[in-house]
Amino acid sequence: MTTVSWTQDDGYGTPELVEVDDITLHPGAHVLHYGSAVFEGLKAHRGDDGVVRIFRLDRHVERMQRSATFLCLPEPPRELTETMIIDTVKADIDEVPDAPGALYIRPTMIGTEINIGAAAHEPKSGLFYILTSPVGAYFEGDHTLRIAIETKRLRSTPGFGEAKAGANYAMALRIVREAEHMYDTDQVLFAPDGQIEETGAANFLLISDDAVVTPPTEGNILNGVTRDSILTLAHGMGYDVAERPITVSEATGWGHEAALSGTAAVLAPVGTLIHDGIEYQMGNGKPGPNTLRLRDTLRDIQLGRTDDAHGWVRPVT
Ligand SMILES: *Cc1c(COP(=O)(O)O)cnc(C)c1O
Repeated sequence: MTTVSWTQDDGYGTPELVEVDDITLHPGAHVLHYGSAVFEGLKAHRGDDGVVRIFRLDRHVERMQRSATFLCLPEPPRELTETMIIDTVKADIDEVPDAPGALYIRPTMIGTEINIGAAAHEPKSGLFYILTSPVGAYFEGDHTLRIAIETKRLRSTPGFGEAKAGANYAMALRIVREAEHMYDTDQVLFAPDGQIEETGAANFLLISDDAVVTPPTEGNILNGVTRDSILTLAHGMGYDVAERPITVSEATGWGHEAALSGTAAVLAPVGTLIHDGIEYQMGNGKPGPNTLRLRDTLRDIQLGRTDDAHGWVRPVT
């Protein structure tokens, strides 16, 4: 992994490439008490040609910067962050699996200042590190997701949902676990006051033979890089792409396909929505042809099988 320390006064030090090992934190470290932690998640894919490519590095670096700003952590400089990520992938290049596996890259930033009195202050010092791990395919075959709709409780708080912060996951966890216990679901789709937002860790899309619809991200919805990529590709493939509000009744009555998008899941088909205990089948309950077509189009770019017309992949040599 690559790691660098920072202070609010002096900024970032010099990154070091080190073996993955435990880190030592004082029990009074800011992150352990006041949640000063943000992260990113992106992937490096090994193509059929053996070349390893990082997908949309620039967008993930920008989002890491925004998330840090949300938590009053010092914005990591673009070039430093890109270099740290690329250096880490280079060091781990032999461990990048073939498709459908990939190397998952997890940039992480925490506040380590020792001061339990700093509840109302940003941490003065901390760590920024890039951790990687080989991962397999998330969903393959005929598997579809069961998703419960939650209309009362929030995933995050208004405005803060844009930050990729552990705190948002902590907030959603109990709701996700309750739904799993009651309905054997994989995830919860948050739809405060009947307006669909997203699930705990992925964006939500309605898909048909000619349309792709997803709620606008302003405010509470994480601005997913996969979401943006799918919308761009769908537009180029001739789908009618709309970013507009979706109500719960529109989603449950859609009658076509639905999917979740995210770096880990890519584009995962939703088979069932559950609202107030009633189950609604999406399409025929199996992965739909449009979802698979969009997913494969994205995957072909990630694996270097097709022309990278949008400049999304960064080969690592
Ligand atoms: C990471 C994340 C996503 C997916 O974003 P990608 O950039 O596509 O990986 C969606 N929602 C939440 C809450 C997330 O944390």
